[in-house]
Amino acid sequence: MTRVVVLGAAGRMGRMLVQAVHAMEGAQLVAAVVRPGSSLLGADIGEICGLGKIGVAATGTLGESADFDVIIDFTTPASTMDALAFCAEHNKAAVIGTTGFDKSQLAEIKHHASAIPLVYAENYSTGVNLSLNLLATAARALGDAGFNIEITEAHHRHKVDAPSGTALMMGRAVADALGRDLEHCGVFSRVGQCGPRSDDEIGFSVIRGGDIVGEHTVTFAAEGERIEITHKASSRMTFANGAVRAALWAAAQSPGYYDMQDMLGLKTAAK
Ligand code: NAD
Repeated sequence: MTRVVVLGAAGRMGRMLVQAVHAMEGAQLVAAVVRPGSSLLGADIGEICGLGKIGVAATGTLGESADFDVIIDFTTPASTMDALAFCAEHNKAAVIGTTGFDKSQLAEIKHHASAIPLVYAENYSTGVNLSLNLLATAARALGDAGFNIEITEAHHRHKVDAPSGTALMMGRAVADALGRDLEHCGVFSRVGQCGPRSDDEIGFSVIRGGDIVGEHTVTFAAEGERIEITHKASSRMTFANGAVRAALWAAAQSPGYYDMQDMLGLKTAAK
């Protein structure tokens, strides 16, 4: 049995993760961490997540948790960095779903992965991870043949970072396939007299509203035709199930930096 701790357990994703761990064969929820100072501290996390009592009380820090094998963290960048430092110090595996890290935090995440098995994915859905391969194939065939590439994403009104981690992941898949650097060819704002687009740029557009779980479209537009590759998530449970599968997988790996493509065995196929 793999002993799992969910961090951010009272959040939108956290509640789904508690349910997913509870339902997954081979996984045991041993602790649930909520924001320090939360009014939910001490409450049975099952009751918070609609499962009824499961005998796991919400705690405010990872240090208070029962012994565990792996964390699943969907919180905030600052909170994730603290949790990773704890895991690196105590030799525990980590599955990170938080998005919106800056460059130095991303470098620190990779540094921690030299000590522990660490899975970081900006999207834990199988469909999105498969679509990265489809995008790379389409980009190689079309990107230098007169097709302009644009990425559109839509999320609920509470999302705090933009563009989404998934949109950036899709942008990197396309840019890498074409030998371009997203740092240079990514265009994240167009306003006023910005002039015509260049052939090589990859543009990003963002929609925020209502309860949209997550939608991404990559458009390959040429004179006279266009191809669109779209993924629509309709339930957060798709991310939660993927992350719990990744946690069971991570707990059995050697230290290293992994993503969902590694876990799903899609990496070789993408090359
Ligand atoms: P949310 O705001 O509903 O949940 C975050 C939770 O973390 C909150 O309940 C907050 O109280 C808690 N928190 C903050 N600091 C904490 C701390 N120090 N310890 C424990 N808990 C703490 O947000 P959400 O919609 O659940 O998203 C969370 C993150 O996951 C975001 O970065 C989002 O972009 C990302 N996300 C990733 C995927 C993916 O597949 N990788 C999918 C959905 C969301």
